[in-house]
Amino acid sequence: MNQSVYDALKRPLRDLRISVTDKCNFRCTYCMPAEIFGPDYQFLPKEQLLSFDEIERLANIFVKDLGVQKIRITGGEPLMRRDLPILIQKLRNIDGLEDIAMTTNASLLPKYAKDLKEAGLDRVSVSLDSLNDEVFGKINGRGVTVQKVLDGIDAASNAGLGVKINMVVKKGMNDHEVIPMAKFFREKGHILRFIEYMDVGNSNNWKYDEVYTKKQILEDIHKVMPIEPIEPNYTGEVATRYRYIGTKEEIGVISSVSDAFCSTCNRARVSAEGKLFTCLFASNGHDLRSLVRSDRNDTQLADEVVGIWRGRRDRYSEERGSKSVNRKKVEMSHIGG
Ligand code: SAM
Ligand code: SF4
Ligand code: SF4
Repeated sequence: MNQSVYDALKRPLRDLRISVTDKCNFRCTYCMPAEIFGPDYQFLPKEQLLSFDEIERLANIFVKDLGVQKIRITGGEPLMRRDLPILIQKLRNIDGLEDIAMTTNASLLPKYAKDLKEAGLDRVSVSLDSLNDEVFGKINGRGVTVQKVLDGIDAASNAGLGVKINMVVKKGMNDHEVIPMAKFFREKGHILRFIEYMDVGNSNNWKYDEVYTKKQILEDIHKVMPIEPIEPNYTGEVATRYRYIGTKEEIGVISSVSDAFCSTCNRARVSAEGKLFTCLFASNGHDLRSLVRSDRNDTQLADEVVGIWRGRRDRYSEERGSKSVNRKKVEMSHIGG
């Protein structure tokens, strides 16, 4: 039976997001703008990344001693990490872990979807922000075509992986794509989740005026295809759910900015170099790599992590208001979504 450990605001830990690389083959303007993440940018050297064995050991502790039920693999672009199916297989063998998901830009899914499914991956969330090649090419900073991502989505579906689509909506960038995306993925039978543009990191020059809010997104859709709210699947679900009236087809909205959900936040994140972040907007992480590479045994390691979670008081989005709090924050490409 897994333990439940509660933080200082009485929130359990259920969901662990593990970043396996800080590298990416895209340069999305809101995440890794090419001006900052240019040819001279220093990514983490290999020896600083947690090895698959180290990730497996930590994951085991998080599941057994802290009550984690779901693990999401992210990045950077997780499929840039060599031999990822080997890690998935190691995680699949952890007793008590209910769900293994991955967030990806899908560009490499045609190559890896089948192996990932066979290794035990349950589902993928694919990021796609537009169906228009010109708009999408500019957003991803590398001129990658929409078809490339759609091929990745089909490869995942055909391999038997669950598929959801994530669309970051930013005013003036792609808010006009909300309806075409909703229609397209409704027809295709994949749940589309809209994500408010967030002030993660310090690279994207975030302004509140550029947030296209949950309210605006829902109003746009409701005018064309009426929707109604539905109950969350479970406590702490990040997306609020809506159904096209009279159908079973649904969409979700992740409203971290206009309607924060910190009070039920049960997520922790481990960066590629093994730092534990108890909030997406944290300035500093706890160095688990040094602990894993020390002579501590699993019980001692578990005690350290339990202590960190018990002391957690993060609720950045509830405190933000309309201004990005002016402090140094970890980059999204470092710890994933
Ligand atoms: N490369 C993978 C991908 O794009 O799916 C995984 C990592 S990416 C950092 C995880 C998610 O964060 C993506 O869905 C991306 O769109 C989202 N994201 C990145 N920067 C964001 C921002 N400033 N606001 C909202 N979402 C953001
Ligand atoms: Fe890469 Fe994902 Fe960030 Fe885009 S959102 S730059 S695909 S890590
Ligand atoms: Fe959780 Fe931090 Fe996001 Fe609040 S701001 S929901 S505490 S990750």
